[in-house]
Amino acid sequence: MDGRLLLSIGQVTSRNVSKDHSKFSTPPLEFLWWRADITKEDVRWVRQNLGRFLDGAKNLQVFPETFKPTNGPIAREWPHRVHFSEGKTAPLVQIPLGEKYDYRNEYTRARREGDPHLSPHGMFRELENGFHEHAMQFMEQFGPLTWKVVSGRRGEEGWVDLADFWDRHTRFIAVMQLWESRFDVEGLRKSWRWIYERLDRINRVGPAEFGAVPNWNFDKFYEFPGVFPWKRGGIENGLQNAHSFLLQTTQELVHYELNLHTQECRQIWTMQSVGKDQDVRFEPIRSYGSLWGVIWDLFGQDISTLTHGWRVCLECGRRFYPKDHRSVCCTSKHQALWSKRKWARDHRKPRILSKPVP
Ligand SMILES: [Zn+2]
Repeated sequence: MDGRLLLSIGQVTSRNVSKDHSKFSTPPLEFLWWRADITKEDVRWVRQNLGRFLDGAKNLQVFPETFKPTNGPIAREWPHRVHFSEGKTAPLVQIPLGEKYDYRNEYTRARREGDPHLSPHGMFRELENGFHEHAMQFMEQFGPLTWKVVSGRRGEEGWVDLADFWDRHTRFIAVMQLWESRFDVEGLRKSWRWIYERLDRINRVGPAEFGAVPNWNFDKFYEFPGVFPWKRGGIENGLQNAHSFLLQTTQELVHYELNLHTQECRQIWTMQSVGKDQDVRFEPIRSYGSLWGVIWDLFGQDISTLTHGWRVCLECGRRFYPKDHRSVCCTSKHQALWSKRKWARDHRKPRILSKPVP
């Protein structure tokens, strides 16, 4: 898969393929991202020794805040690939880059198979916050969220800040939960409370505070123009507001967060030869310098038409892409089960009601 798109660009000037290849594969990469080279043994070690957040600090050295780990070949022993710093909520881990992949291909497959977990943003949605084994499994599949590219070659090593990883995850989940619960007033209240309790973590993630609006002319941000529920006489009062208020705030928040985290988007044109004749075709494509930007872009793509966003299966709780707007379950089997239960539920009530009152 490596270079598949690059080749399609290079085809037209076939004599310069190698030249073009290097030109297009030097960072920042336009279409591709890297998986991380993480083995099953790596994942097992992390599960056994790092647990959640700072669990692993009990048995490993914790360094002063000013002491940063240096780049260099991947350490052979896992304890040397972990770096705990004072004042942080999780360690840094050293990982090597793996093969490149085309994230839009993965997204297309996820949509085709109706399974959001096959796409980076769908899998990211499912991780348990702070559970480092999940971060490793995610990076094995889709790579680190951000990466300072040096050569972009397989095996390039770097330190991933898991505190930052989980802060970003918190911010993403905050927005996902709002979006998923927007038509359920109790769910929406729960989602806003969840955010209120984690605001410091959410705001630690750049480039600006939660819901901020980019000023497109300057490298500045305006604060969220809507009214957060806790700004209405405290969180308890604020959450008692009508659904319409919470819904509107939610929609505005999703809108601004989407803009904020896709700011680094660059639109580039791809060139491909057309059939047998000698003509070429140009196509615009959005590209990102981080998987973080990609994840928001894919979420944006999901909700750019209302019927295409993922849903939570009412029978089993699994997220899925609905085949049509009426699907409320992930498979036809679950749909049938749910309909049966629903029928039973709907027909239970009147019987109870019709009982004569003693
Ligand atoms: Zn299901």
